[in-house]
Amino acid sequence: MSRIVMKFGGTSMAGVERIRAAATRAAAAREEGHEVAVVVSAMAGETDRLAGFCREIASVPSPSEYDVVVASGEQVTSGLLALTLQAMGCQARSWQGWQLPVRTDGTHGSARMSSIDTGALGAALTAGEIAVVPGFQGLSLDNRVTTLGRGGSDTSAVALAAALGADECRIYTDVEGVYTTDPRIVPRARKLDRIAFEEMLELASVGAKVLHTRSVELAMKHKVRLSVLSSFSDAPGTLVVDEDEIVESRVITGVAYNRNEAKVTVLGVPDRPGAVAEIFAPIAGAGINVDMIVQNIAHDTGRTDVTFTVPSTELPRALAVMEAAREAVGFGGVLSDVDVCKISVVGLGMRSHAGVALTMFEALGKRGINIQAISTSEIKISVLIAEEYLELAVRVLHTAYGLDVAG
Ligand code: ASP
Ligand code: MG
Repeated sequence: MSRIVMKFGGTSMAGVERIRAAATRAAAAREEGHEVAVVVSAMAGETDRLAGFCREIASVPSPSEYDVVVASGEQVTSGLLALTLQAMGCQARSWQGWQLPVRTDGTHGSARMSSIDTGALGAALTAGEIAVVPGFQGLSLDNRVTTLGRGGSDTSAVALAAALGADECRIYTDVEGVYTTDPRIVPRARKLDRIAFEEMLELASVGAKVLHTRSVELAMKHKVRLSVLSSFSDAPGTLVVDEDEIVESRVITGVAYNRNEAKVTVLGVPDRPGAVAEIFAPIAGAGINVDMIVQNIAHDTGRTDVTFTVPSTELPRALAVMEAAREAVGFGGVLSDVDVCKISVVGLGMRSHAGVALTMFEALGKRGINIQAISTSEIKISVLIAEEYLELAVRVLHTAYGLDVAG
């Protein structure tokens, strides 16, 4: 008999009928003899709706009260799922984040978990009860409700699986697994049977929405057997595994995109030690995350331009901060563009193959798509391009790397 954690996302919780379908799956797993803990998201759209109320009341709502409000979505679905299981004749109960508790730091809105006390819950599982745990929520050391950041229920599920020493963590979602790219853009995208942790981590961090980045990090660290599969079919999903468990050889595993990018160009930055630090210090001070950074050599003009990207939602703040720093740093001016997006290709094969970047640049160049910035890691290449070319670029690259399914 094994112990499994099953996580159901928002679309799998959207209404009583779907909750019943999820309950049926959990009950079936219990029936097969497994110990079953279920982690749930709020109903699809509910977290947005709750966050909307907060913003209607205050443009910058108190972070701790914001968390009290948005964490409630998961409280509702955990109770409803437990009720549904009971109505089916199963032994089940819900465990709120504060009841376990799931301990986190005090960073409201994007808290990090530090520990989960699974003592009582573990005993209930052993006694045959199905445990239903709301994802996304935790409790700070000063006993306030916290939340883990949007999409954080995946991370709750993996952390619970690690804390329970579960044999498996299954993430049930509205797609059949992890695809080579977004099937809404490329109908010939292929479902991957397996993907390496490192690849999944890069894909999640560059915009693939299927798993919360932190959940992959945790699964990798704690060696949690993680899979992504559909709530709505019985098709086998995608298994996230160690690199040496990947048999198929491929150079590129996936193509991802992120629309939430804006480009800032700082003109005429003095070519002296410390100037770049002076540009990024106020940006970091404002808590704005910088992604790509490009700086050219000044040659003998004594000045150079520095380009970087920030989430487009942060652009107004980034521009205000730069304007305030202009005189002190002594740069000429600032240009910005929100109509950009980032396209990334990810694959472990990049480590051992030459010319992977060239394939990308040529494929985009042939379609007249201009590259505005480039960044790379060991297993990823990202380019910044005009947003109007997003879909074309994704399609072209999916083909260029041989990822289209035949037929
Ligand atoms: N309900 C939260 C959100 O929409 C957490 C989650 O579903 O993973 O972000
Ligand atoms: Mg999600």
